Amino acid sequence: MLTQHQLAGYLGKSIGEICQNDYKSVHDNHCAHFVAHVLGYRFGATCETMGNGKGPGATLRVQELFPRCHSVGAWSLRPASLKSCLVFITRASNVNLATRSMANVPRKHVGIFLDGFIWHYSNSQQRVVKQLPAQFAYHYPSPDNAMFFGTLP
Ligand SMILES: [Zn+2]
Repeated sequence: MLTQHQLAGYLGKSIGEICQNDYKSVHDNHCAHFVAHVLGYRFGATCETMGNGKGPGATLRVQELFPRCHSVGAWSLRPASLKSCLVFITRASNVNLATRSMANVPRKHVGIFLDGFIWHYSNSQQRVVKQLPAQFAYHYPSPDNAMFFGTLP
C-alpha cells in the first residue's frame, strides 16, 4: 500500500540517490525508472541489466510500463474510486487504448498519482518533484500533453 509518507522520502532526490545500479546519466529519461524503483517493477529493460547491477533492478521505459496497467484511459475519465494510479502524458495519437500500447516517442512522461498529487522525476531539474495534476498538464506544450491514467500493475 503506497503512502504519501513513503513518497515524501523521495522528494528532491536525484536518480543517483535512488538507483543502486549507477544508471543515472543526465542524457537518459528517468521518469519510468523512478516510478519503477518506488513500486518495484522489474519488467522489460531494467537498470540492473543496463547499469552495473549492484542493487534491485527497475523498469526503464515508459512504453514498457503502459501495457502492464490492467486498465488505462483518458485522465478525465478515471474512476473516482481510483486513489492511486500511474499518470502518463504524451500526444494523444501516440497512445492506443484498445491495445494498451504507447509509441516510443521522445515526448512521453509518467508519474505516480496518489491522494490528489502527482510525484514524478523531473529530468530538467534532475530531482523528484510533487505537483498538482493541473501543473503536470503543462509538462509538455500542446498537443503533447494529453493525460492518461493506468491502474498500478
Ligand atoms: Zn535504477
